[in-house]
Amino acid sequence: MTVTTRAALLKGAYDIELVEKELVCEDDEIIVKNHLIGICGSDKSFYRGQMPPKTAEFRQEPKFPFWLGHESGGTVVEVGSKVSQYKVGDKVICFGWCNNYADYFVAKEFQLQPVPEGLDMDLAALGEPIACAMYSGLHSGVQLGDVVLVMGGGFAGQIIAQCAKQKGADKVIVADVLEGKLELARKLGADVTVNLKKENLHEVVYSLSKGNGADVVVEAAGSQDSFNTATELIKHNGKFVFYSWVTQPITLNISRWHDDGLEFINTCLVHHTWRERYVWTPPSLRPVVQGNVNIKPLITDEFKLSEIKEAFDLADKDDTAIKIVLRP
Ligand SMILES: [Zn+2]
Repeated sequence: MTVTTRAALLKGAYDIELVEKELVCEDDEIIVKNHLIGICGSDKSFYRGQMPPKTAEFRQEPKFPFWLGHESGGTVVEVGSKVSQYKVGDKVICFGWCNNYADYFVAKEFQLQPVPEGLDMDLAALGEPIACAMYSGLHSGVQLGDVVLVMGGGFAGQIIAQCAKQKGADKVIVADVLEGKLELARKLGADVTVNLKKENLHEVVYSLSKGNGADVVVEAAGSQDSFNTATELIKHNGKFVFYSWVTQPITLNISRWHDDGLEFINTCLVHHTWRERYVWTPPSLRPVVQGNVNIKPLITDEFKLSEIKEAFDLADKDDTAIKIVLRP
């Protein structure tokens, strides 16, 4: 059986369009009806014409025209004869680049994940970015009493900061350049926020840590400045937690990495093998199902799928938008 869907094609930089497309369900494939789709920071880079180098993630070349989208979830409507893990009616989270800006998408079994019982479908559809950020928050190595600095108050940074507080950090500091994001971080439990355009982050971190530097710094902003600032503010033998995906070459001052014996923790769930991801996603989403981490306030803007041009225009121009979602 085939299914007709609208699906987003990124024809070039700043040029996105919904086109009609027939989806065929092969023996080893699954067709999913979307519930909700999120715009990821990486989608924004694609939209701006910054294509990443080809990685294991992509089943298509990272060049235009590009079938865009990876953050969504919904209900299985068709399964191929060789599919054993899923059946029609199952609720699933997508963990793959399956051209998800669409009414329906096709995936292989390893690109999906069952929705944990009790998880709201709006959050389940954002299960990939939520699980990734939660995995980082849970694996950041934060200990009771730590001073933790989170660089970047975007979707992931806000979740990671909440986890750090819940894990017993004495002080959680969130740094960003946008007041709106900092205000939200304070509402969601950050102890201190720093506007990098107006305040001196070094002074704040050193005074809160009695001159030592932060025990843990999580890099969730993804810029050269952010990486270099993180490097400067970690204490001797402290932890540098990677989260961001930086797709363009940057210049780093890494002398301290060696000289101060920094510990590096790569907390990128989605770039682990899919088998590891399969194991780690349920425990990563558990605190969200339990209501211990607050996600809904991070969904700042909602559009209809038909308004995809407006949605991407907003994503490009308004940095205060944290998570923009599209509803088919
Ligand atoms: Zn993403």
